[in-house]
Amino acid sequence: MRNARLWERLLGVERTVVDGVVFNEDDEAIVASVRPRRGATRRCGICEHRCPRYDHGQGRRRWRALDLGTVQVWLEADAPRVTCPDHGVVVASVPWARHGAGHTRAFDDMAAWLATHCSKSAVQQLMRVAWRTVGAIARRVVADARALVDPLASLTRIGIDEISYEKGHKYLVVIVDHDTGHLVWARAGRDTKTLEAFFDELGEERCKRIRLVSADGAGWIGDVVKARCANATRCMDPFHVVKWCTDALDEVRRDVWNAARRGGMKALAGDLKGARFALWKNPEDLTANQQAKLSWVQRTNAPLYRAYLLKEQLRLVFKLRGDAGIAVLKAWLAWASRSKIPSFVRLARSIRGHRPAIEAALTHGLTNARVESVNTKIRLLQRIAFGYRDPEALIAMAMLDLGGCCPTLPGRAA
Ligand SMILES: [Zn+2]
Repeated sequence: MRNARLWERLLGVERTVVDGVVFNEDDEAIVASVRPRRGATRRCGICEHRCPRYDHGQGRRRWRALDLGTVQVWLEADAPRVTCPDHGVVVASVPWARHGAGHTRAFDDMAAWLATHCSKSAVQQLMRVAWRTVGAIARRVVADARALVDPLASLTRIGIDEISYEKGHKYLVVIVDHDTGHLVWARAGRDTKTLEAFFDELGEERCKRIRLVSADGAGWIGDVVKARCANATRCMDPFHVVKWCTDALDEVRRDVWNAARRGGMKALAGDLKGARFALWKNPEDLTANQQAKLSWVQRTNAPLYRAYLLKEQLRLVFKLRGDAGIAVLKAWLAWASRSKIPSFVRLARSIRGHRPAIEAALTHGLTNARVESVNTKIRLLQRIAFGYRDPEALIAMAMLDLGGCCPTLPGRAA
């Protein structure tokens, strides 16, 4: 292997000529003089089209490359500008780095891979970069991956949700592909305009191919989906329905407890307070103590126990799914409406309003569980992405980790 070839391999560059390598004593770094191979010169930095040269730009410049052993490495090259018919005067593309980047592709890919696998401080120290830089790298790498493989290309079953971050002060709308489990789109906001931006990007043709959409009961999501996806059946996420139900149950427990307290029955009030978890938990997960508490509720408080049974039957609806689930739902609605428990009468009314979407979820077995797990992971990511003012950096980190955009380590087969 000749020296120049060896250096190409060591530096992890392609379509690049290595003219010379020196150890710079002042910087304590290796500086490699490079230039694009013949076919890779005079291309637009944005679209890669061959264009006429404009001028020599800012002259020679440097890019950070991966360290060699213990030593920092820089690539140095001319950075001429070209005139692109579409993009005007732009810095010519270089094969070793992404457009506008101060780091090589290999460096970017390594930093992005580490950001999804290691702690924030590990990435910063190992790569010797500021965390802000990692955010910028994540954005470049994700944009590159999405340009290569369009995640919106073959969507048919999607989940839509909103997620709060920064202690509930800010929101993202997220879209998950039910078939791959990947996060495919996210944007800051929680309104129709934000969601419409997704369908705009998807385009009319691809909107028509969407068959199933799962979401929680948020009216604004339902309205936009109805308007934009003519062929889609909306599925109500069972998780949210069960959540409404546990809220209704808790309201009953609180009312009974307050009544006991006001009536001077201190001991009873205390016992009821302790019953909260016994009522909430799935019966199969109850401890012996909680089971005893539950049978105490059954003996002493008929309405509260009825509310508990209503909650359990609604859970059964989503456990059974399909036609059996739909049949139990029908019975449940009749029972809840006649229950004389105000919070459940209201719940029944609200569930009736969402009945077609709930029945669709039972028929198609589509839940927002995948979307929820993506949301949970984004919330975790937010902790390491903390310090990014820009939601785009958080979104890029999420796309790297959950959108299948994470590159392989440089020099390894995919
Ligand atoms: Zn161009």
